[in-house]
Amino acid sequence: MDARAGIISAYGDYEDVLRDIRRFTSLADGSDALTKALLGNYALLDRGRPLEDLRNSIFLTALSRNSRCPLCERAQVCALDHFLPKNQFPEYSILADNLVPVCERCNRLKGDECDRADGLLMFHAYFDEFPDTEVLFAEIDVDNTVSIRYSLHHTDEIDNFTFERVTRQFDTLGLFDFYQMEAVAELTDQVDLYDETYYSSGDSGLRSILGALARGAERKGMNYWKAALYRALSRNAEFCSGGYQKLLAPSMNSLHHF
Ligand SMILES: [Zn+2]
Repeated sequence: MDARAGIISAYGDYEDVLRDIRRFTSLADGSDALTKALLGNYALLDRGRPLEDLRNSIFLTALSRNSRCPLCERAQVCALDHFLPKNQFPEYSILADNLVPVCERCNRLKGDECDRADGLLMFHAYFDEFPDTEVLFAEIDVDNTVSIRYSLHHTDEIDNFTFERVTRQFDTLGLFDFYQMEAVAELTDQVDLYDETYYSSGDSGLRSILGALARGAERKGMNYWKAALYRALSRNAEFCSGGYQKLLAPSMNSLHHF
């Protein structure tokens, strides 16, 4: 086979491949020599090699827009993820569309995740929109401490396939626990602000601040972890009537995770 023609054709079909991964036969399937040769291209992105500029421009574009990792929306980008893993799809090892800047943690956890047989891909930062209907919820429990638990809820507004993709993304990247830890850290830093608000304008004042934080966070998407967090807090009567002070009590959850 003319490898060059095959690769050019695969590049043109990349978006179609994402939409119908089950039917795609990788150019390198069954050919070790071609696979090795294609994987060897990846080193061309290294410092001082011919494709160093490509690598740099992908990072610079990410940094100029928003340096947050598109998979977790939290950490700084520092690695290039092969959306379609290079071992399974070596023809895309240096295709810019397949190189997505992500954080170290997501890069490690995503790894070679891609089961071609079930066709359930994660969300591609360049080609997919994360659903804007509410599926991520935070459950707040105010007891001896404030505990936060994230979960996904399937509603009629989202189709099964999309919901399964969201679930796959959260499970693969361990996002429930990750967001829970981030949420505890975020809120603990704000106890003084909640105190001032509560003592000057009571629980309605605190509820309105939390509501404003939720609306601000929703600009990043209904399912941004802070949006789900502040929506839940603004609706939690116990938290808003002084329960937030329990944030300062040692949390079994956070002890468990750290
Ligand atoms: Zn990340």
